[in-house]
Amino acid sequence: MEAKENNIFVTRASLPPYEEYEELIKDIWHSHFLTNMGRYHEELKERLREYLSTSGIELFTNGHLALEMVFQAFELKGEVITTPFTFASTTHALVRAGLKPVMCDIRGSDCTLDPDRIEELITDRTVAIVPVHVYGMICDYERIASIARKHGLKVIYDAAHTFGEFVDGRSVASLGDASMFSFHATKVFNTIEGGAVTWDAKRPELEFLSDRLYKLKNFGITGKESVEFVGGNAKLNEFCAAMGICNLRHVDAWIAERKLRFDIYKERLSGLKGLRLLSYQDNVKYNYAYMPVIFEAGRDMRDRIYDGLCAEGIFPRKYFYPAVNAFECYKGILDPKSTPIAGRISESVLTLPIYPELELSDVERICSLIADMLKEGV
Ligand SMILES: *Cc1c(COP(=O)(O)O)cnc(C)c1O
Repeated sequence: MEAKENNIFVTRASLPPYEEYEELIKDIWHSHFLTNMGRYHEELKERLREYLSTSGIELFTNGHLALEMVFQAFELKGEVITTPFTFASTTHALVRAGLKPVMCDIRGSDCTLDPDRIEELITDRTVAIVPVHVYGMICDYERIASIARKHGLKVIYDAAHTFGEFVDGRSVASLGDASMFSFHATKVFNTIEGGAVTWDAKRPELEFLSDRLYKLKNFGITGKESVEFVGGNAKLNEFCAAMGICNLRHVDAWIAERKLRFDIYKERLSGLKGLRLLSYQDNVKYNYAYMPVIFEAGRDMRDRIYDGLCAEGIFPRKYFYPAVNAFECYKGILDPKSTPIAGRISESVLTLPIYPELELSDVERICSLIADMLKEGV
């Protein structure tokens, strides 16, 4: 693939004006304080606590380690019911934390965990449910909470796709026992690399989390001369925190720009024969991080449209393809046939380019190309 100036990729990292970042990193230079929960780390944490409307929050070097560490913080051991329709990180984090993922199929309407299929997978070894708010679609959190309550399970959300979202007036950061957010460069809000765990700190049984997560991300060190846990290193450094502080000033405007593009896609694509959009709900405030479309004819059609767009210098993503339970590393351990809906959707989905600076005329062009290809049967 030629890296041409006018190529359009699925996303483009959002950056603040250079001078804004420069201003903040000047202070880092003067202070020589580069990491270890410095001033910007603390400032970002407080700003995010407010932005995400969450009482509990801890920052991490990335979303993946945030997930591994929140599983460790709850001292989970056994089986965890989760979805194969996600990024590699969700499942890998479970396995790396010594847990056994048990794959539950998803709902076709929004690609989130199907609450009707969870209970049949619960055994006496099940300790938690790890759903993913995939593409910003909020899981059926009420049904999941009631199943978890009935069986005494923890619920930890992979909320990497739902930065700043609200459902029924509630922040997504307050759902379940804890949620993980990713601030990777490709996400709606980025700290270059970064992540967070959020939870409802007013619940007394979660009071331990703040201290436990802090220690886990800092080698388990509890004092100058004491190390209490076998922790790791997952601290967010000052340069990343400063990027987050700058980006947070712009993120609402960026989401509004994303929505403009989303609305054009929605208007131009809905109703096209052979193409389906997910079902968006009126009770959710979305962040428009992704633009997934499903080609109902399946993989051949999806792949031909993908190739057709690439030939025009437009690079959507087969996201998520393959489903996690079809990865080589899980061969013989997980069975992709156990989740047919996830398998089918992974073979028929494309996420289209969407980011704040994407030209509206390019959105129109992408829609026309897709409509033409569908009409011709490619
Ligand atoms: C991005 C992402 C992660 C991992 O986050 P990083 O910050 O890249 O480590 C985990 N789960 C999902 C669904 C993601 O999209």
